[in-house]
Amino acid sequence: MNFEWNEAQLSLFEHALSYSSELRSTSHQPGEFPLDLWKSLGDFGYFGLPVDSEYSPCGSGLDILTTVKVLEGLGQGGADTGVLFAGAAHTFACVMPIYEHGSEAIKRELLPLLTSGEKIAANAISEAEAGSDIAKLATTASREGDYYIIKGAKSYVTNGSVADYFIAYATTNAKFGYLGQTAFVIPADLPGIEVGNSYKKLGLNSAQLNQVFFDEVKVHKRYVLGDEGQGARIFAASMDWERCCLFALFIGVMQRDLDLCIEYANMRKQGDKTISKFQAVSHRIADMEVRLQSARLLLYFAAWQKSKEVDNTKAVATSKLAISEAFVQSGLDVIRVHGALGYLDEGGVNSSIKDALGSVLFSGTSDIQRELICNRLGLL
Ligand SMILES: Cc1cc2nc3c(=O)[nH]c(=O)nc-3n(C[C@H](O)[C@H](O)[C@H](O)COP(=O)(O)OP(=O)(O)OC[C@H]3O[C@@H](n4cnc5c(N)ncnc54)[C@H](O)[C@@H]3O)c2cc1C
Repeated sequence: MNFEWNEAQLSLFEHALSYSSELRSTSHQPGEFPLDLWKSLGDFGYFGLPVDSEYSPCGSGLDILTTVKVLEGLGQGGADTGVLFAGAAHTFACVMPIYEHGSEAIKRELLPLLTSGEKIAANAISEAEAGSDIAKLATTASREGDYYIIKGAKSYVTNGSVADYFIAYATTNAKFGYLGQTAFVIPADLPGIEVGNSYKKLGLNSAQLNQVFFDEVKVHKRYVLGDEGQGARIFAASMDWERCCLFALFIGVMQRDLDLCIEYANMRKQGDKTISKFQAVSHRIADMEVRLQSARLLLYFAAWQKSKEVDNTKAVATSKLAISEAFVQSGLDVIRVHGALGYLDEGGVNSSIKDALGSVLFSGTSDIQRELICNRLGLL
């Protein structure tokens, strides 16, 4: 066992940290998608971190552990968490399924556009009646010659209003349940697609979240990912990526919040003492450290297992659960340590709790992660 990062990995981490710190001051309209920031992240190489350069000049071909470390740096640097989240949804739930399951022609056509950030993708699986349980998707795809006709509505699609492509999942054979679902790349300019207004939500505000409607959208068969019937497997693989890599961003955000707490506790005085000398405050910060380090090690283990191509369902679910729940607690603690200042926008620390609450829902809720863990423990 070796807990050390090599020099190349550390220098990539430092680069991500300083790049993200520089983006911290970039301002944009609240709730709007910051295209300039997106482009800067494209220039950094965010959207092609694990993609081989054979498929795109923006691909870095990093292994998953190094990818995780770079994402930690981006999260810690303080660039807008909403756009980092949007980038992770694009990269890990869209670019990676194309990279791992697309035909050679589709990979060559789309990966250069998507890894540079010139084009944006959105993952569309959730439906009104299929959130945690996606066994029965009401969206259907029926074959007509060389085309599929897609019909249905997706309820929560990150990047929906800015997407050039959707990775959408539809039922091709209802008799087979999970094995009757198929994954499609759907160009967003095809006739019959309508995107709802962006939802107003609690956090991650620059990431757009929309309903998407497919009304008899005619998609060529070359846009099928993998084979017909492999949709559920492809989605599960994309969640493996997302649950590791997206949540690495939040490890970085928690590290930043912890550092801010230490700095503030050592500076802020009540009476003649800094508040760090009050055990209630210092123990709260010690607990933040324990939760962060535990979640971080679970993430590294899950990513390491993924790189070994063994069944890592339990490790990934454990890591996702630990990170998102630690993120919520850390978001509360950073406000408590900063007192009233923490509650104010000008204190600069009240956004984490708003971003963190979403993290216990997307990529499978905390309850669903517990179900996955129980399943692997032989309890279900
Ligand atoms: C910010 C954000 C971004 C999102 N982005 C996307 C996206 O890009 N693409 C996409 O397709 N979806 C996206 N989603 C949707 C997300 O994946 C779903 O919200 C999530 O899967 C839960 O589904 P639901 O909201 O329908 O809740 P439900 O499934 O209705 O769950 C409601 C409650 O019941 C619990 N529950 C449900 N079933 C079980 C069970 N079997 N065992 C135990 N507890 C259970 C849940 O844990 C939860 O507490 C996003 C959601 C959010 C909040």
